[in-house]
Amino acid sequence: MHYKVYLIDVTNRDGVQTSRILLPKLSKTMLNIYLDDMGVYQSEIGFPTLKHEVNYINANIELAKLGVIKRLHLEGWCRAVPEDIELTFKNCPEIKHLNISISTSDIMLQGKFHGSKTWTDIINGLMKSVAMARELGAETVGINAEDASRTELDRLIDFILSGKEGGADRFRYCDTLGADDPITIYERIKTLSLATKFPIEMHCHNDLGMAEAVSVAGAQGAIEGGVDSYINTTINGYGERAGNCDLVSTILALKFSHGLKKKVHLDEHIDLKKTWRIAKYASYAFNLPIPINQPGVGANAFAHESGIHADGALKDRRNYELYDPEDVGRGEPELLETGRIITTGEYGGIKGFRHVYDKLGINFHDDNEARKVLELVQYANLHTQKPLTDDELRFIANYPDIANGVMSVSI
Ligand SMILES: [Zn+2]
Repeated sequence: MHYKVYLIDVTNRDGVQTSRILLPKLSKTMLNIYLDDMGVYQSEIGFPTLKHEVNYINANIELAKLGVIKRLHLEGWCRAVPEDIELTFKNCPEIKHLNISISTSDIMLQGKFHGSKTWTDIINGLMKSVAMARELGAETVGINAEDASRTELDRLIDFILSGKEGGADRFRYCDTLGADDPITIYERIKTLSLATKFPIEMHCHNDLGMAEAVSVAGAQGAIEGGVDSYINTTINGYGERAGNCDLVSTILALKFSHGLKKKVHLDEHIDLKKTWRIAKYASYAFNLPIPINQPGVGANAFAHESGIHADGALKDRRNYELYDPEDVGRGEPELLETGRIITTGEYGGIKGFRHVYDKLGINFHDDNEARKVLELVQYANLHTQKPLTDDELRFIANYPDIANGVMSVSI
């Protein structure tokens, strides 16, 4: 049997909780749709215990019920404490997937809880939380060990086996401070896999510039230890401090690096050709540039100028390129028009609105429907504070009630 690597994207949770960057709920929804279309296994969509996330999460669950989001697991994050599990299901009764988190290292137990929680308390809270999540309707539960990379292996084995016994589905190994290196994590994850036979998620940060290297090395350890692995990614690597493991680089590493492409099999649903669209959209929605040298999607990823390189690339692109621009979906038109254009938005009227939607090939049954969608487009533009993309406009017209839910907040 071939064990595989699945991708769990955490842009909509770890990415958005990052200092000084934000993402409107409409953009989070578009990312979920794009992640699904790209074949990503799961999206960590946010915090079901946080009031302003609730309508957005419930509206996205509705999209999954309608079949707009097809395979992607929509998963919420909360602490591994019974109060959070209870509140999660009070706010989002139909949520099906959860990852629940608690610190496991001595340094965090001492530093965060100041001795008020013993290891036994942590394990009891974990088991109670898993059981409660199951009882309230969770189909899958992941158990996250925060600061796993600074936690002894014996303790992690205890954590995993307790969660497994309680009915959890996966263990998330959090390299919260980005302190692991590829060789250490490979060995640690292999030991954990052999000892527990429980699937492992890699959650790695980039403080030492090794998030992708550490994630794929850990995944290899899991697979060689006889379990499936799940790598946590974010689009363009956006995330806490120096960021998280980048989605696109991770796929490229698994598909094209000499060793990994033979040994570590990526979920076959992943469609690398959807890369360009999702990376460009995330950059636009977050208002953050893609670095010129970003793997696959940076402006220079396929650019050659120096004499020897340009000559070599012109004779045979394989002299200097591991993969082609088309492999990552480059060559698609840009998100926004650059010539003369009529736009619709916050202060738009019905004529311009109809012109824009005619160009998208979308017609409305009657004036009432058109005016309702126009109003939503105005709100959406107010909400995102930047010109709406064609896909956003299509989404609002096709699912007006859900778009309304996504953009609303109840107090
Ligand atoms: Zn994190």
